[in-house]
Amino acid sequence: ATPTSIMAGSGRAAEAGVLFRSGVHLEHAGGVQIIALDKTGTITRGEPKVTAIVTGENEAEFLAMAASVEQLSEHPLAQAVVAAANERKLTLAEVQNFRVSPGGGVEAMFSGTPVLIGSPRFIAERGLDLAAFAEKTAALEAEGQTVVAVVRNATIAGLIAIADEIRPEARAVIAELKELGVETVMITGDNERTAAAIAAKAGIDRYYAGVKPEGKAGIIAELKAGDRHVGMVGDGINDAPALAAADVGIAMGGGSDIAIETADVALLGSDLKGLVRAVRMSRLTMRNIR
Ligand code: ADP
Ligand code: MG
Repeated sequence: ATPTSIMAGSGRAAEAGVLFRSGVHLEHAGGVQIIALDKTGTITRGEPKVTAIVTGENEAEFLAMAASVEQLSEHPLAQAVVAAANERKLTLAEVQNFRVSPGGGVEAMFSGTPVLIGSPRFIAERGLDLAAFAEKTAALEAEGQTVVAVVRNATIAGLIAIADEIRPEARAVIAELKELGVETVMITGDNERTAAAIAAKAGIDRYYAGVKPEGKAGIIAELKAGDRHVGMVGDGINDAPALAAADVGIAMGGGSDIAIETADVALLGSDLKGLVRAVRMSRLTMRNIR
């Protein structure tokens, strides 16, 4: 690899919104055989919004209770719940004993009553019966929405459905990568049905759902088996170990600082088209060298 062609390649890539940490990473990008992508904030915009509230109770009071608990969580789903309450100008209460179960949900004492909010799986693991809401949950998830259940005093009070749009360029980028011979897989902590719906919309054949935050790096290690070259694209703090485990770690430019610092490549403007450019430019640069 001649330093001049690498520098020229890096310069052209930067102009196209793809920042390589070093020339070595420009050399490697064209050799990836699989690219794993995180769902929330990577394939989707990462701006989830509340789309439906399912409850037999007073909707405003139900939402205010959920938002009062979620205001202490930094999760994008929590922010969607709080935003929905703010839009309706609801007053939130201070809660006590707030606790997070990463990849599952949150809980706190709301005016002397225990409130639990989280994924249907997490709620079921706590021994609560979701049967009355199962059909509604399945229908919403089949549309690609994420459903969280709200439990008060060990009784299901209702559901909140939250949706996050797919990035407009995602489907075309996945198709172009396929043409370049690069396989794509999606990794998410979200449930099976929502994952299947989003993967189908993006044109991704293979996905891993229900992955715990610490599990993503393990999947990268599995994908690397047999000396396969694996890239990983992510935006979140919880993606950092997987970005580090990949042969080429790629961060969304609008992602968390930890993801960007850990990555070998950053995509400016969080534009997924940068993935195709990274692979193409790397291959062109290496061809010019040989
Ligand atoms: P992702 O990888 O999609 O960002 P996470 O691993 O962070 O997902 O979370 C997995 C699931 O746990 C979420 O889809 C949601 O159902 C549930 N969950 C996590 N945090 C919260 C929260 N603050 N409020 C409600 N549900 C939550
Ligand atoms: Mg994410």
